[in-house]
Amino acid sequence: MTYDPSNIFGKILRGEIPAHKVYEDDAALVMMDIFPQSRGHLLVIPKATSRNLLDADPAALAAVMPLVQRIAKALLAATGADGLRLAQFNEAPAGQTVFHLHFHLIPVYEGTALAPHASGKADDAELAKLAQAIATHLA
Ligand code: 5GP
Repeated sequence: MTYDPSNIFGKILRGEIPAHKVYEDDAALVMMDIFPQSRGHLLVIPKATSRNLLDADPAALAAVMPLVQRIAKALLAATGADGLRLAQFNEAPAGQTVFHLHFHLIPVYEGTALAPHASGKADDAELAKLAQAIATHLA
């Protein structure tokens, strides 16, 4: 399976469609998931092109994990969540729907079940507010 640049995250990375961005540098973009499984659900997207974990450059993987950790801490601080789930799906049978590598950071709130994967669309104004709140907690 090869990388297809027409995927939706490829379009977002090229600035062809908008996103609620939390953070961006030369190597990665962090944005709100528009169908969140919980309040604050984020996606960390390496800019290096790969479908998923299986075809990723090991150097790109090594470079992105410290950012995943940094974003996770800011996400917990901004949302007050009680825990956090890190998820990453590889190929359609495993639940992958967008074929550009990304890491889900899903806050967990005690006593509140997560919504199903990629179900209801969140309110844009709410996502914009959350993106700003998380960004202010980045060290
Ligand atoms: P996957 O199933 O590939 O692991 O995750 C893809 C994620 O992208 C899903 O959680 C889905 O809600 C999210 N998503 C799909 N389309 C868009 C979009 O246009 N913008 C954003 N920000 N997220 C999207």
